[in-house]
Amino acid sequence: MTTTRPDTKTALARLLTEIEHRNPAQPEFHQAAREVLETLAPVLAARPEYAEPGLVERLVEPERQVVFRVPWQDDRGRVHVNRGFRVEFNSALGPYKGGLRFHPSVNLGVIKFLGFEQIFKNALTGLGIGGGKGGSDFDPRGRSDAEVMRFCQSFMTELYRHIGEHTDVPAGDIGVGGREIGYLFGQYRRITNRWEAGVLTGKGAGWGGSLIRPEATGYGNVLFAAAMLRERGEDLEGQTTVVSGSGNVAIYTIEKLTALGANPVTCSDSSGYVVDEKGIDVDLLKQVKEVERGRVDTYAERRGASARFVPGGRVWEVPADVALPSATQNELDAQDAAALVRNGVKAVSEGANMPATPDAVHLLQQAGVAFGPGKAANAGGVAVSALEMAQNHARTSWPAARVEDELAAIMTSIHTTCHETATRYGNPGDYVTGANIAGFERVADAMLAQGVI
Ligand code: NDP
Repeated sequence: MTTTRPDTKTALARLLTEIEHRNPAQPEFHQAAREVLETLAPVLAARPEYAEPGLVERLVEPERQVVFRVPWQDDRGRVHVNRGFRVEFNSALGPYKGGLRFHPSVNLGVIKFLGFEQIFKNALTGLGIGGGKGGSDFDPRGRSDAEVMRFCQSFMTELYRHIGEHTDVPAGDIGVGGREIGYLFGQYRRITNRWEAGVLTGKGAGWGGSLIRPEATGYGNVLFAAAMLRERGEDLEGQTTVVSGSGNVAIYTIEKLTALGANPVTCSDSSGYVVDEKGIDVDLLKQVKEVERGRVDTYAERRGASARFVPGGRVWEVPADVALPSATQNELDAQDAAALVRNGVKAVSEGANMPATPDAVHLLQQAGVAFGPGKAANAGGVAVSALEMAQNHARTSWPAARVEDELAAIMTSIHTTCHETATRYGNPGDYVTGANIAGFERVADAMLAQGVI
């Protein structure tokens, strides 16, 4: 067990206060920074080189933040003005890498929290990618394809000057899927007159995309949850699982759970959730959400007697062995965690970024529930994005089985790294500490080697 010098803890507490002062009105960023910094004391105490003044201070300050105007016209000719963001947080390990989020809740603080998390997540993959994130407060819901296209074109007309295959490589996130990546890539190609496949990931399989990229985040999270269960002598087969969300991550989480013999009984969106005793029919869910761009109540209507829609409810009230939050940040609070524990949950693994509040994480860990933090558990998406970059660089395309094997190997390695690191620092089974410290060590080593920049 490593003991922590009180001065290390005091210095970190002081830095957290300073972060709050220097970044006012950014609660999500404060939350993400606090969650990481609070676990770093043991490693800073054990490895004095990391406690060097300025290292952690540099880590919490983005290398570059771009905020820009995105004007666009709707189908009736009305002009709208949205705000665009790209936060290039840390490039010590490789080009900035992280998705774009289009959602009305997006602001600089949300993008900074996501970009900060991304640094550690990307480091955990073991691949050469730095951390960044971007997006806009644009709401694609209810917009026509033509409106989404005009928005994406306007967004890229500014973003193109900040990105590039060796500089910064965006991908999808909430509200940005294959359709949006297509429009963004088309505009980038038009403006730059370059076929630069490696500038964006999540592309269509016929024009530079990697097979298994759409599936990767959800599949990866299920593999991570399975690894946590295996560590406790259990497996996923036969386990009742609750999944929140009904977007990219949720759909492929449900698909993989079903393939491994688990029973995923829920999905949700911001209007409520569906519980389906027979298990969610993933083909019907894909048809409703991906093809028709509909809502989950439509799934319940079409599915028949086994499914019902609960307006405004939260999936965490449904009894389950395993919970996989896959919608958005802070969607699982202490009350939800208490309900899960009461119902005997064994593992919670984050498909979304920071879906569990700090109180919820604490409560789950205290109750002995295996808890997989997003920066480890949902790293499969960005890992396969990095494999997409590798394929683009080599102008080749790998078969699905090869990508899936690599994804499985990466998720196993992330699980092992987190587990071993947590044990090394005296907290066996604490994947939060393990993920934060392991990600930190890799980035910090690179930053130290590259000097004060
Ligand atoms: P999608 O846009 O495909 O789906 C998002 C889902 O979450 C929708 O069902 C949506 O419902 C729901 N949701 C979003 N915001 C809210 C909200 N404020 N309240 C309730 N429900 C909400 O996004 P993804 O599936 O790609 O992303 C889901 C999560 O996974 C995010 O946290 C993202 O950062 C994370 N993630 C995604 C990766 C990827 O590869 N796509 C990689 C790693 C992490 P509604 O339509 O009603 O808004």
